[in-house]
Amino acid sequence: MDIHEYQAKELLSNFGVEVPPGALAYSPEQASYRARELGGDKWIVKAQVHAGGRGKAGGVKLCGNDIEIQSACEGMFGRKLVTHQTSPEGKGIYRVYVESAVVIDREIYLGFVLDRSSQRIMIVASGEGGMEIEDISAERPESIVRSTVEPAVGLQEFQCREIAFKLGLAPSLSAQMVRTLKGCYRAFTELDATMVEINPLVITGDQRVLALDAKMTFDDNALFRHPQISELRDKSQEDPRESRAADRGLSYVGLDGNIGCIVNGAGLAMATMDTIKLAGGEPANFLDIGGGATPERVAKAFRLVMSDNNVQAVLVNIFAGINRCDWVAEGVVAALKEVEVDVPVIVRLAGTNVEEGQKILAKSGLPIIRATTLVEAAERAVGAWQSDLAQGTKVRVEK
Ligand code: ADP
Ligand code: MG
Repeated sequence: MDIHEYQAKELLSNFGVEVPPGALAYSPEQASYRARELGGDKWIVKAQVHAGGRGKAGGVKLCGNDIEIQSACEGMFGRKLVTHQTSPEGKGIYRVYVESAVVIDREIYLGFVLDRSSQRIMIVASGEGGMEIEDISAERPESIVRSTVEPAVGLQEFQCREIAFKLGLAPSLSAQMVRTLKGCYRAFTELDATMVEINPLVITGDQRVLALDAKMTFDDNALFRHPQISELRDKSQEDPRESRAADRGLSYVGLDGNIGCIVNGAGLAMATMDTIKLAGGEPANFLDIGGGATPERVAKAFRLVMSDNNVQAVLVNIFAGINRCDWVAEGVVAALKEVEVDVPVIVRLAGTNVEEGQKILAKSGLPIIRATTLVEAAERAVGAWQSDLAQGTKVRVEK
């Protein structure tokens, strides 16, 4: 789960990371009011969307008076911000963060990520702040400092000082840098984050180390341990298909293809997507309905998959181990009676009670295309969709 910059700043500041004074606004009038409350004579108005690259896309504006704040807000509220990190449709702007502008001496990139190969938290830093890390690693790879944390002992002071030294910070800034790094590390581990990124971390004109931007991503599977983090979820920033799935307890990722997938088990779901591609098709989604594929879950899955207007065929691939194929088949039949499915449905069942399952599908009288192997199922799904296309039928129209 992602959160907004202002939320990440608040969390990180609770762990000792210094941030400039700022306040949130839901309207242009409130933004002006917030600026007056903050005082000073220069403010940064920042669109709160779950994406970076806002500066270049017009989502971060320096303002010197009330008129400038109003015009910055008018260009943001209710619009969609398209950055290189969003989809082409962009993300809606419903909140802005008003922050005191600071004088920047130096910008640094700082990121905490999970490094899968070393199975450790890795700190990535660079003196080339302000640029995205992908650009830094392409253009100035030698500027990147990496340091992994040994989990048994946690982040050590000497490691922090070494990072500060490698970034070329003045020794007088070392203590502030240690505090910042340790704060981020504690926030990362204690809140079950999977990423903390501060870009830029700056040295101000008056020699303070401040986080001017902040991004945090959390492990969805650990959110139950952090109700205060779960509350920060902003559905306006998510793919509506994925929010609906999360609300229904299904694990779904929307994709651009047109063959909807309903599968039990994440590994089998991945294999199903691969096989569809191998057969010349494109999956419309990843969907793992979990182990106990009850009729209700199957119906929910059909409803979710069919809510995507691009779907032109649905492939159901269930392996029944603990489950039973006859039960799953009953679920599919019940779901198809309940949910309007106007595209070809291909069902492949394997495992316990597979013969009984096949009989139930055959007897139902529903136009289900049956397959025994995954390859056959994928080929039939791609074939069914292509023949529908060739006949000019069943090409779904926008609802
Ligand atoms: P994004 O990464 O989405 O473009 P940032 O929050 O990093 O957004 O802002 C873009 C740039 O704007 C920063 O790199 C920094 O140079 C400048 N900036 C952001 N906040 C402030 C601030 N409070 N004072 C001065 N400059 C700022
Ligand atoms: Mg940034």
